Amino acid sequence: MAVMNLESRIDEIRARIGKAAARSGRRAEDVKLVAVTKQVEPDVIARAAGYGILAFGESYAQELRLKQEIIGRAVGENVEWHFIGRLQRNKVKYLVGTVALIHSLDTVSSAAEIDRKARASGIRMPVLVEVNTGGESKGGIEPDALDDFLHEVSVLPGVEVRGLMTMPPYFDDPRDARPYFAALRGLRDRLSAKYPGLKQLSMGMSGDFEVAIEEGATIVRIGSAIFGNRA
Ligand SMILES: *Cc1c(COP(=O)(O)O)cnc(C)c1O
Repeated sequence: MAVMNLESRIDEIRARIGKAAARSGRRAEDVKLVAVTKQVEPDVIARAAGYGILAFGESYAQELRLKQEIIGRAVGENVEWHFIGRLQRNKVKYLVGTVALIHSLDTVSSAAEIDRKARASGIRMPVLVEVNTGGESKGGIEPDALDDFLHEVSVLPGVEVRGLMTMPPYFDDPRDARPYFAALRGLRDRLSAKYPGLKQLSMGMSGDFEVAIEEGATIVRIGSAIFGNRA
């Protein structure tokens, strides 16, 4: 996929992030941009890295590993990778210790596997818990079950829960996604008294990231607005 104007698209997204952050009383640096690179060729990723994008998100463990190797050789190791796809227990071993953050923890069995692999490597693995705020997506913990889930995961020494992630249903008008983002923030605000590590809110994609930032997103996951539409 040839990407024209990659650098100017990145400039534009950064400017829009900064404006949305200002509307929520924050600074651009308070919102982390994760560039979603599924189906994006390594040379394009390297170009984005050369333009200062240092966090990339992938949905498939194999694609992630391949790109990590290629980009690592091309631009060095100061790039971080985020796993944002459906988490399968048998793929956990490829992710622990190689990605900066897993955004999509939503089963106790995957948490136990992350714990096992992390302790074997002598690390604590940072994760976000995916919450099904819309009631429609296939993944994610139901809001009502989140407290119990966090309770079970919080006893695992190899797992460090840093926050929550959600993917609202798709809307033509991004303002319609606002209640889902507000719901995730409400869960974080309510549960962070009990689980103080709960800080990050990974929410907002190409179509709705400004609304998500207005509602408190600390991490946005943006693909097509930077790299163009996927096949
Ligand atoms: C693909 C994907 C994104 C990015 O979507 P865009 O609309 O291309 O910005 C963000 N989050 C997740 C979980 C994804 O799978």
